[in-house]
Amino acid sequence: MTFDSFGLPSIVLSNIKNLGYTAPTPIQTMAIPAVLNGRDLMGLAQTGTGKTAAFLLPIIAQLLKRPEAQRRTGRKARLLVLAPTRELAEQIHEAALDLAKNTGLRSTTVYGGVSMNRQINALRNGADIIVACPGRLLDHMGQRTVDLSGIEHLVLDEADQMFDMGFFPDIKKVLAGLPRERQTMLFSATMPEAIRSLAADILKDPETLRV
Ligand code: AMP
Repeated sequence: MTFDSFGLPSIVLSNIKNLGYTAPTPIQTMAIPAVLNGRDLMGLAQTGTGKTAAFLLPIIAQLLKRPEAQRRTGRKARLLVLAPTRELAEQIHEAALDLAKNTGLRSTTVYGGVSMNRQINALRNGADIIVACPGRLLDHMGQRTVDLSGIEHLVLDEADQMFDMGFFPDIKKVLAGLPRERQTMLFSATMPEAIRSLAADILKDPETLRV
């Protein structure tokens, strides 16, 4: 299997090449076609499997299908990724910058422990991709400094970690503020009842992948 066989945009393929990725990992091989087809996804995968690119690549490809959206300033975010820690949020954001390099797509992060104002400015300037921790994102939603009405794709990464850290009530509130018509992906290393039940609530006819 090669990255060329998925029908990803050529800019994205060249970014993949520049990162030195020669072949897709097993989760990428399974997830990329399903996500490109618009499917919801339940991914049972640990860190180190290549799961970040498994969701970012096909979502970036979908975002690029409507290039007119990129020219607007103050444009609405279309991908929201929720992550348990700011370290993971930064890693996902960095991966998004690498994979979407030279595409015009913009990514920004939202998490606690740093200035609210810088985040407000970045959000006001317009980002296509927001990588956020749930608590701070809720603060922005409460102050109306983030607009999530254009979200087309939602990813919950390390959902079991977010559950263990007590973020589920916050996540439920975030979910209530998102468009219902969207593609949703849930990644978790383990599948306890809480994750099973969240998956049943938010995923529509998901493709389930295990690596
Ligand atoms: P992740 O599981 O998403 O945290 O990714 C683990 C590491 O694997 C990251 O450093 C990625 O840059 C790298 N990676 C992801 N996909 C590939 C690939 N297809 N080939 C080589 N490295 C990759």
